[in-house]
Amino acid sequence: MPELPEVETIKRSLNRNVKGKRIKRVEVFVPRLIKNPDSLRSFINSLRGRRIERVKRRGKMLILELDKGFLAIHLRIAGGLQYGKREERARLCFLLDDGRWLNYMDARTLGEIRLVDNTESLDFLKRLGPEPFSYSYHTWYRQLQRSRSKIKAFLLDQQKIAGLGNIYACEALFAAKINPFRPASSLTLSESKNLLTRIKQLLRKAIKYKGTTISDYRDAEGKKGKMQFSLKVYQRKNMPCFVCGDIIQRKIIAGRGTYFCPTCQK
Ligand SMILES: [Zn+2]
Repeated sequence: MPELPEVETIKRSLNRNVKGKRIKRVEVFVPRLIKNPDSLRSFINSLRGRRIERVKRRGKMLILELDKGFLAIHLRIAGGLQYGKREERARLCFLLDDGRWLNYMDARTLGEIRLVDNTESLDFLKRLGPEPFSYSYHTWYRQLQRSRSKIKAFLLDQQKIAGLGNIYACEALFAAKINPFRPASSLTLSESKNLLTRIKQLLRKAIKYKGTTISDYRDAEGKKGKMQFSLKVYQRKNMPCFVCGDIIQRKIIAGRGTYFCPTCQK
């Protein structure tokens, strides 16, 4: 599932490739992906002729700012955007005024696309917690202290911190040497600072490596990321820990398979 680094990678690439271009034609092959407006005809007519001013990201959501309105895209499990030739498997595509295509790809067709007049109308955005890079240590520690969740569940909660998913939550806890089962409120001030620092380091590195490709994820040029080669615990069940040699375990927390080293993570 695309998390913050993957969505950020797509955003940066789109800003290089589609910024300032106009949408000439819209083709929709899976209408149920469009959650707003209700009328498909109105969605298509409103988008035709619009110019893409810039592409933004908030949490795991991509927002194409148009000369009139915003196209908000939640990629969910397997969504992605690719710029270039027209893709056979696109679920939705836009012909741009440079003659190239912006394709919305989604093997699972669980993504959500909304065309809105202003982003204030998006309930999802209202509920999102702070971006990892803009969290202050003080606020972060206070949020952890208030929580009644396990730290792993806290990291996955988009209302607490926006953009982390299962991969980077597992990896951040390993990097910070914190056991995923611990209550968030049990972290000391120095542990909580260290965790936030590790989260930021990990995300920066993952953005530099253009994300993690385990199955579907591709960047906006159709290329795989390289961060999967730097993961330390995710999907390494029963394999030896790179640090201590103990066996990596997998346990379910908040419905998600959680990978950790029982020796390194206290
Ligand atoms: Zn270990």
